[in-house]
Amino acid sequence: MSIIVRQVSKKFTNFQALDQINLEIKTGKLVALLGPSGSGKSTLLRAIAGLEIPDTGSIIINGRDTTHLDVRQRNIGFVFQHYALFKHLTVRQNIAFGLEIRKHGRKGIKEKVEELLELIQLRGLGDRYPSQLSGGQRQRVALARALAVQPQVLLLDEPFGALDAKVRKELRAWLRRLHDEVHLTSVFVTHDQEEAMEVADEIVVMNRGRIEQVGTPDEIYDNP
Ligand code: ADP
Ligand code: ADP
Repeated sequence: MSIIVRQVSKKFTNFQALDQINLEIKTGKLVALLGPSGSGKSTLLRAIAGLEIPDTGSIIINGRDTTHLDVRQRNIGFVFQHYALFKHLTVRQNIAFGLEIRKHGRKGIKEKVEELLELIQLRGLGDRYPSQLSGGQRQRVALARALAVQPQVLLLDEPFGALDAKVRKELRAWLRRLHDEVHLTSVFVTHDQEEAMEVADEIVVMNRGRIEQVGTPDEIYDNP
């Protein structure tokens, strides 16, 4: 699924969070939105997600103008910084959540959940509650839950920001692997240059609500 952002602007009271953003993300790419705090990364991600309606401009996903489509009508998975797993549900129940509300059949749900547990290599921990998992394991569950409804677009807002350096490195490798295996188009927000360079196919550098540069890590950074 390609994503086209065309002339998108968004103002909050008197603050221009997004200022005429133009961006094209090609199918299958893993793209990082990189920039300092307050540069508009989350707002752009939320606009792509349909959680924020732009004042002007349009968001076209796979050739379809989705600017005014409801979030639930978009085939998009989300992962946020603070896991947002349901604490009263087990790992299996968390992963199944999106399928339950879409009224998938019992058998189909069970199979899908087991398949995802395998994918994130947490088979033995399916009956645990989030509080019984490490931070990295919780984020793997959040990834599995986002992927359960088979989105073609995966959006991640500082997905590893709350984790320590070692686990963060591990999770980057996970994201890269899942992105490739599931054939996704993915966009993730980060303020960590090293993270963007290590994981992304393309980096979009944002500052003050504008895009300053777009390119592969090699195109953007001069690595001697
Ligand atoms: P980033 O993700 O790069 O840190 P954001 O997109 O979250 O930046 O925010 C850009 C700016 O817009 C910030 O100054 C933030 O305070 C402001 N902003 C974001 N959402 C809202 C909102 N709902 N109401 C008012 N201001 C907002
Ligand atoms: P992030 O952790 O991605 O930087 P923020 O903490 O900036 O996210 O924002 C969290 C939520 O608060 C978002 O929904 C954002 O739209 C909203 N928000 C951010 N800044 C403001 C603000 N100045 N006024 C009102 N809402 C805001």
